[in-house]
Amino acid sequence: MTATAMVDVRGVHKSFGRLEVLRGVDLQAAAGSVTVVLGPSGSGKSTLLRAINHLEKLDRGTVSVDGELIGYRRSGGRLYELKEREVLRQRTRIGFVFQGFNLFPHLTVLENLTEAPVSALGRSRAEARATALDLLARVGLADKAGEYPRRLSGGQQQRVAIARALALEPKVLLFDEPTSALDPELVGEVLDVIRDLAAAGTTMIVVTHEIGFAREVADTVVFMDGGVVVEQGPPEAVLDHPQHERTRAFLSKVL
Ligand code: ADP
Ligand code: MG
Repeated sequence: MTATAMVDVRGVHKSFGRLEVLRGVDLQAAAGSVTVVLGPSGSGKSTLLRAINHLEKLDRGTVSVDGELIGYRRSGGRLYELKEREVLRQRTRIGFVFQGFNLFPHLTVLENLTEAPVSALGRSRAEARATALDLLARVGLADKAGEYPRRLSGGQQQRVAIARALALEPKVLLFDEPTSALDPELVGEVLDVIRDLAAAGTTMIVVTHEIGFAREVADTVVFMDGGVVVEQGPPEAVLDHPQHERTRAFLSKVL
């Protein structure tokens, strides 16, 4: 699988001051697969997603997406840091959906979706608009194109955020607790969108506490604790027959 991994994380270390938050993380996600990352608060899940996106500079280790190193390039066996511009270019191919939607409040839903394709990918306005309308239909919000984010429910805003990430045609979509900020009755509509993306073969890494969703949608479940991957495997293995005491202890609290 490593040869064809869409996302390949190797030996990643990251400290904040004296706190080592990632202590040698390896993670491979095959093209078209869904990886669900579980773990207690503070275990380094968000830092890992941010490291994959190179929003955090790595202390050690590498991340590549579709064979291209993010943050580094290799030359003669050595690693050199990419220039900020190059990191930004690479990052446009990685979609990121946060807990808190982060839509541009002063732009309409449609403008939220067209802004980056025009400015970062150089798409024409007409092309970006056509793609945006298709994506809004895909997340069930075709009728909201002209609305401002504040007029939408949290679930609708998160679906717009997912459509906005897709507008950049990412190679992989990263989700950091996409339903944690939602009222319980709105969680389902967002998970349904992610489920549809999985069925369409979108490569995704999803940090979530929704165990039922993990069981149903994940190809691989990764359990992190203390900045390392403690255990990973198919959902039936990790969720129903965890090998490590730390995994068992965590699952007994969230299930
Ligand atoms: P999780 O998402 O699993 O809850 P995080 O990756 O957010 O965990 O955080 C892991 C640890 O790193 C926590 O102890 C957190 O306080 C710390 N941390 C995260 N980001 C920073 C930062 N920018 N500066 C200092 N400490 C941070
Ligand atoms: Mg987090």
